[in-house]
Amino acid sequence: MNMKDKSWKEIPIGGLIEKGGTAMEYKTGSWRTFRPVVDKSKCINCLQCWIYCPDSSIKAENGMMAGFDYEHCKGCGICATICPVKCIKMEQEKK
Ligand code: SF4
Ligand code: SF4
Repeated sequence: MNMKDKSWKEIPIGGLIEKGGTAMEYKTGSWRTFRPVVDKSKCINCLQCWIYCPDSSIKAENGMMAGFDYEHCKGCGICATICPVKCIKMEQEKK
């Protein structure tokens, strides 16, 4: 289902996800007011951010933190809060 093709009258009440494996179709990045930005020079690749991100929006490659999936990151700031070395900053989104 492509959400762009449907009006509010056609989507399920409350935006209910009707079946598994469809979360990738919901591009929640447009909800963001603040975006996470990482300073990789300070990152210790503990992947705590990857574990705690509620939207699976932390990218990991070869066991290392590799940035963000900005199409799905909602800007909740959990990654910045949980990071033990505080190398993720939340910056105002430019619209
Ligand atoms: S701001 Fe929230 S949604 Fe975005 S990457 Fe961090 S924890 Fe995930
Ligand atoms: S929590 Fe912080 S230090 Fe750990 S992988 Fe994420 S950005 Fe790097």
